[in-house]
Amino acid sequence: MNHDWRSALRRLLMISGLAALIGWLLGILPWIMALTFLGYALWQLRQLHKLQTWLNSPDRDAPTPTSQGLWGSVFDDVYRLQRRNLKTQGRLKAVLKRVQDSTAALKGGVLMVDSQGNLEWWNEAASQLLGLKESTDVGQPITNLVRDPHFKAYFDNTDAYDEPLDMSAPTNPDVSLQIHITLFGLRDRLILCQNVTRLKHLEAMRQDFVANVSHELRTPLTVISGYLETFIDHKDVLPERWGRALSQMEQQSQRMQNLVNDLLLLSRLETTHGREHFSVPVPSLLKTIERDAQSLSGERAHKITLECDEQLNLIGLDNELSSAFSNLVFNAVKYTPNKGEIHIRWYADEQGAHLIVSDTGMGIDSRHLPRLTERFYRADASRQTDTGGTGLGLAIVKHVLLRHDGQLQIESRLGKGSTFSCHFPQHRRSHAESRREKAIESA
Ligand code: ADP
Repeated sequence: MNHDWRSALRRLLMISGLAALIGWLLGILPWIMALTFLGYALWQLRQLHKLQTWLNSPDRDAPTPTSQGLWGSVFDDVYRLQRRNLKTQGRLKAVLKRVQDSTAALKGGVLMVDSQGNLEWWNEAASQLLGLKESTDVGQPITNLVRDPHFKAYFDNTDAYDEPLDMSAPTNPDVSLQIHITLFGLRDRLILCQNVTRLKHLEAMRQDFVANVSHELRTPLTVISGYLETFIDHKDVLPERWGRALSQMEQQSQRMQNLVNDLLLLSRLETTHGREHFSVPVPSLLKTIERDAQSLSGERAHKITLECDEQLNLIGLDNELSSAFSNLVFNAVKYTPNKGEIHIRWYADEQGAHLIVSDTGMGIDSRHLPRLTERFYRADASRQTDTGGTGLGLAIVKHVLLRHDGQLQIESRLGKGSTFSCHFPQHRRSHAESRREKAIESA
C-alpha cells in the first residue's frame, strides 16, 4: 500500500511536470496546468464512483471494479475485507442455525421474549404446550397469549424467578406445566416450560399411598395398644419376666402411633387447601403448650419461661399452629439436658409477628441445618432412640408455616443451644379483640 501511494505521488508529479513543460513551450502554462488538474480530479471522481456503485450493488458476486495504482489496491483490499466478512457471517449463521435447530428439537418448550414482554421466538414444543401460532403470535405480548392470572403475576414479578411456577397448560387443563423464567440481555426473558404431568401424578400417588397406609395402620395399632395397656394393668398376675417386654412393646406401639399421626397430619397439610382462617389466640395456645412442656420435662426439671404479647393474635388455623409450635417447644425439651433453660417469646415488630423458641441444649452441627426440615432427617441418628421422636416434627413445622406465609429460621451452636424462629408477615397479625371478626380465605 505504501508502495502504491508512492508511485501514485510520483505519477502525479510526472504529469504535473509534463503539463508544465508543454504549457511553457506553448506559452499557456496556467491553462494547461488547470486542465491537467481538472482531468486528474475527474479521474479520481470516476474511481470513487466505481467503488460506490460496486459497494451498493445488490449482487454480492458482482465483479470488483478494476483500476491501477492506488485505486486498484484499494479495490482489492475492500474486496478481501468483504469476502472475510461474508465468511464470518456465514459461520455465525451456521452456528445460530445449529442452536435454533437443537433448541427446536428440545422436548421442553423454549420461548424468547423481548424487554417489552413481546414474543420473539419459540420452539415447536412451546407451540404445543402453550397453544401458540407462528403466523399470528410473533411480536404479541406473551401475557395476552398465556392468560392464566398466575402466569401474569409471575411474569411481572422478576423477584420470583428463583422459583418455578406450576400451572395447567392453557390448551389442556389436565396437563401440568412448570415454568422457569430467566432474565438476560436488557431485561429480555428466556422462558422454559416443561410438561410435569407424570411427576405430579407420581407425587399424588405417593401422597395417597402414605395417607392410605397411615390410615389403615391406625386401627390395628389402636387394638394392639389397647391390649398392651390391659396386659400392663394386670402385670401382677403375669410372669415377672414379661414386665420389661410389655413396657417396651407399649413404648414402641406408642411411637408407631405418633408416627402414623404425624404422617396423617403431614399428608393433610400437603393435600388440603382453602379453609377459612381465623384470628388464633396465640398467647393462650402458648400457655397450654408451656404447661404441657413442663409436664413432659417432669423430673428433668427444665426451666421453661414464656414471654408473650397478650394482645397479639395470628390469622390462621389453631390446630395447625398448635402442632407447629408444640413441636418446636417439645423438641427443645427433648434435646436439652436436665435443668436446662427454654425460653419462648411471642412478639411483633414492623416486619410482622415472631415466635422464638430458644434452648440451652445440645445444639446442632451447622452442616445439618439445611436438611433439618426434611422428613425423617435427624441431626444425630443415635439420639432418636432416647427421645422417641418421629423425625417428622420439623417437616410439619415447615408445612404449617408455608400455609401461613411464614418462614422458619434455625440458628444453633453445637453444645451451646438452638434458636428456632417462626416469622409471620404483617398481614397475618391480628389484635386479640378482633377474634373471629377478621377472617380471610387461606391461599
Ligand atoms: P424428631 O422427632 O427426631 O425430634 P424433628 O423433625 O422434630 O424430629 O427434628 C429433626 C432433628 O432435628 C432431630 O432429630 C434433632 O436431631 C434435631 N433437633 C430438633 N430440634 C432440636 C433442638 N431444639 N435442639 C437440638 N436438636 C434439635
